[in-house]
Amino acid sequence: MIIGIDDTDSKRGMCTTYLCAFLLDTLHDEVSTPRLVRLNPCIPYKTRGNGAIAFEIRTDNSDKVKEVVRSCVCEFSELDDVDTNPGVVFIDNEERLSDADIRILKCYYESAVREVLNIEHATGIISHMDFDYFGLKNMRGIIGALAAAAFVLLQRSSVHYDFTYELIAYRQKARWGTPRIIDENSVWAADAATYPLTWDTVDVANRRIVFAPHSPCPVLFGIRGDSVDAIYRAYELIYAEPVERVRLFITNQGTDFHLIALDRNAKLLDYHSYIVEGVVESPPVTIAGGHVVFRMVLNESSAIIDCIAYEPTKGFRNIVRQLRVGDEVVVSGSFNHGTLNLEKIGLISLNREEMRNPICECCGRRMESAGRGQGYRCKRCGTHRATKEAVTIDRRIEEGLYEVPPVARRHIAKPLIRMRHERAYKGLVIHPSR
Ligand code: ATP
Repeated sequence: MIIGIDDTDSKRGMCTTYLCAFLLDTLHDEVSTPRLVRLNPCIPYKTRGNGAIAFEIRTDNSDKVKEVVRSCVCEFSELDDVDTNPGVVFIDNEERLSDADIRILKCYYESAVREVLNIEHATGIISHMDFDYFGLKNMRGIIGALAAAAFVLLQRSSVHYDFTYELIAYRQKARWGTPRIIDENSVWAADAATYPLTWDTVDVANRRIVFAPHSPCPVLFGIRGDSVDAIYRAYELIYAEPVERVRLFITNQGTDFHLIALDRNAKLLDYHSYIVEGVVESPPVTIAGGHVVFRMVLNESSAIIDCIAYEPTKGFRNIVRQLRVGDEVVVSGSFNHGTLNLEKIGLISLNREEMRNPICECCGRRMESAGRGQGYRCKRCGTHRATKEAVTIDRRIEEGLYEVPPVARRHIAKPLIRMRHERAYKGLVIHPSR
C-alpha cells in the first residue's frame, strides 16, 4: 500500500516529514524509503517549501495501518492554524490500475508541481481510481497527498524522474522551539569533505550555514545530495545536540521539475514557473530594497516581462547588474503579475557592440556631433563622418549559466553543480554558486 500525506504543519510548528519519520518508526511492517515531494513552489497556501510525503508499506493488515496513520495525523497536525488542512491518500489497489490510470496520475503529479490545482480535481481522480482517503478541515492536503503517492507509483513504472536525497535529523521534543545547538565548524568540515556530492549545506560566499531551519519545527537539519554514502559521511562529521531520530528521503528537490518551457505564443500564467529565452530590453536598475530589475522581450511570444533579482539573492544581483540592452539570455523562475522572480540566468550571447562617435583619422580624437542629422565633425581638423562607429567593448562577465546562492535557493531548484556531468542549457558553461 502507498500512503501519501500533506498539510499537517504550520509556521508555528510540526513538519509533515517528521510525522512521516515518526510513522515509519512506529509501524513495524516493511516500509520503503519515504519520498519528500516538492510541489508547485508558488502556491499561496504553502507553509514553507510546499512539501508532501509518501511511502510504501508491505502489510497484512492495511486497516490497522490506516488507523495508525489517521490517529497520528489527527494527533500531530497543527489544526488550530487556518492554513493547516491535512489530507491522506491510500493506494492499496495498485494491481487494478490500468495504463490509462497511470497516465492520468503522471499528468496529475506533473500538474501538482507546475500548476495550480483544486481539491475537486484530486477527489475526482481518487474516486475514479477508487482510492481510500481521509482529510480534516477543508482537506486541501489531499492535493499534495495524491501527488506524493503518485510519485512513488510513477518512480516504479517506466517513467524516469530525476531525484536526489535528503537525510533529515529531528530534534528531541523537549528542545522544539529552543535555539538549535549545532557546531558550525563541524558543518563546514562536513561540507568540505563531501561537496559536491552533497550540496546546499553551507553558503560559502555569504558565510552562512543553510541546512538548518530557524522555525520552531522538529527538524534539526537536513543534508541534501546525490550520494547516500556522502550524505551519511557528512552526517557522521557533524556535532550537534542529540537527535530523536533521522530519516533518509528520496526527493524531487534539486531537479528544476517545476519549470515549464513556454510553447510558442503561449501566455505566461501567474503562480507558474518558467524557463524562457529572450533579449534584454531595458538596462537593469536597482530599486528600493536593493532588488534589481530589468525588462526582456521573450523569443517565444514577443511578450515583454520584468525579471527581478530580490535583495536576498545577494551576489547574484551583481551578475544581473552587468546586463546590457541586446544581451541574449535565458531565465528561469516563478512568474507573478508580469514579473519573473529569477532563480537562474543564462547569458547566451553578450552584446559587446557599442555605437560611439567616430575617431578623427588625422588627430585620433573622438569627433563631436555636427548637429541633428548632420553627422560628426572634428573641430580641430575639420574632418567629417556621417555615422557613428561600432566599437567592441569589454564586458566584466562571461557567457554562461548563473544561479542564486544557496541561501536564496528554492528546494526544487536544481543547483548548477548538479549539471557538471551533463550538457547544460545550450551547452552554456555553468557557474555554480556556493
Ligand atoms: P512544509 O514544506 O513545511 O511541509 P508546505 O510548504 O508543504 O509545508 P503545506 O502545509 O503542505 O505547506 O501546504 C501546501 C498546501 O497546498 C497543501 O494543502 C497542498 O495540498 C496544497 N498544494 C500543493 N500543491 C498544490 C497545487 N499545485 N495546487 C494547489 N494546491 C496545492
